[in-house]
Amino acid sequence: MSGTSPVWHPFTQHALEPPMRTAVHAEGATIIDGDGNTILDGISSWWVITHGHRYPPIMEAIRNASKELDQVIFAEFTHEPAEELARGLIAVAPQGLTRVFYSDSGSTAVECGIKMALGHFHNQGIDRRRIAVVEDGYHGDTIGTMSAGERGVFNAPYDPLLFSVERLPFPGPGAEKEQACLDAFEALCRQGGMAAILIEPLVLGAGGMRFYSARVLSELARIARAHGVLVIADEVMTGWGRTGTRFACEQAGLRPDILCTSKGLTGGAIPLAATLATEEIFQSHYSTDRRKTFFHSSSYTANPMACAAGVANLKVWAEEPVQDRIDAVVAEHAARLKRFENNPNFTNIRQAGTIAALDLVVPAGGYLADCGPKLRAFFREKHLLLRPLGNVLYIMAPYCVTPAQLDRFYDGIEEGAERVLKEFAR
Ligand SMILES: *Cc1c(COP(=O)(O)O)cnc(C)c1O
Repeated sequence: MSGTSPVWHPFTQHALEPPMRTAVHAEGATIIDGDGNTILDGISSWWVITHGHRYPPIMEAIRNASKELDQVIFAEFTHEPAEELARGLIAVAPQGLTRVFYSDSGSTAVECGIKMALGHFHNQGIDRRRIAVVEDGYHGDTIGTMSAGERGVFNAPYDPLLFSVERLPFPGPGAEKEQACLDAFEALCRQGGMAAILIEPLVLGAGGMRFYSARVLSELARIARAHGVLVIADEVMTGWGRTGTRFACEQAGLRPDILCTSKGLTGGAIPLAATLATEEIFQSHYSTDRRKTFFHSSSYTANPMACAAGVANLKVWAEEPVQDRIDAVVAEHAARLKRFENNPNFTNIRQAGTIAALDLVVPAGGYLADCGPKLRAFFREKHLLLRPLGNVLYIMAPYCVTPAQLDRFYDGIEEGAERVLKEFAR
């Protein structure tokens, strides 16, 4: 299907995919398409929607902000939505973060974090340029974030452009693998020249919903600290309640030097990102020497409507029982995951806060690459929006998801797996 639309969609092989549905309305945990179908959004529209689609106070804040301001060059002006959001972020973020730099996507937030870390040492005349990451990580699709992420078919064509980073083995499962990761990091730090460790706290998202322990996270930070290495927490996906707490760092008592947030920052309504940094990192860029400037900008830095949406999101967190809703979703998942324990079609049944994941057992001779599209076709037929990562099935719904809606996801996963595996068996 070559199609009549000129639109090129993200992560989409247009030669293989069915035509795109047209979204005409979104509300709560649902998206309504042009044919009038109500589709249940089990992945929060790629992990951005937290409270629900078009959450009223957030949409209202965007409308109100638009009455006064549109984009105003942020290298010349500030404005109240940006100021208020920065103050609010610092108040709720892990302690020690005192400065907020705005950009407009998770990738740019991480790029800024990497640049801040390198600039921090460069401006002090310290030779530290190496970056450590955990293998299988994902930090975005720009050249810098691809460099830090796992290499593979997704970025092979761009390989000549990607810089090298130090990769730590994934810390788990089990004490031995945890220790191997910590030992590898310690050894790297001892070699010297290490600027920062860039890490997705507790959950590798796009890497297959792989979870690791808060203890490892805090140990990695301890080692970093001992060697003067900065910790960059990529909370782009984990932030805003996904792992059960507002930020995943909280569960490890981690106080990162740099924290990147985006997806849930505006409740998913409008693009915005922030890179939070410690006072030391700001001060290493603060100088009468212009060369020490943090040379980064996006045209749409601190868009007022986006910042107002962020402020509204903070207010929702402060004034509504968001944590109770999250706790309820966590409990609902836990109850439903149990039924898969004796299902031979699944393994590695796991949960991190509001994220539930399980691996499909693909029989020998079954082609892994085939099961994803087949499952997606099945989910589409059932009006469930789920996108398996290889053989990993996961649910990451907005916090307004009802128990009945969760039942539909779990029924769909159970039935979809049965159907797809039967096809392999033939
Ligand atoms: C999605 C994601 C990013 C990239 O965010 P974009 O807004 O898509 O650029 C970075 N890091 C993590 C952990 C993510 O999940």
